[in-house]
Amino acid sequence: MAYAPACTACGLDYSSFNVGDGAAAFLILIVGAVITGLALWLELSREPPWWVHALLWLPLTLGLSLGLMRLAKGVLLGIEYQQDAREGRQ
Ligand SMILES: [Zn+2]
Repeated sequence: MAYAPACTACGLDYSSFNVGDGAAAFLILIVGAVITGLALWLELSREPPWWVHALLWLPLTLGLSLGLMRLAKGVLLGIEYQQDAREGRQ
């Protein structure tokens, strides 16, 4: 997934920004922690059959990861812009 070439509101050139897999890495950590916490809580409090876990967490993990990807990339770009960070220079 890539950004649009420039901001439609202010014309900021996005081509110098490249967050790469940063957003995915963020999401893996955050979504993974949330799902693991929820799964542990459900198992310990309700002790459901195994298929309840499969039915809940697989789609939820996929949905959260894909659904939050745009937001995560946007946040990372915002941070890069704020910190004036660019690829390949200090
Ligand atoms: Zn803008």
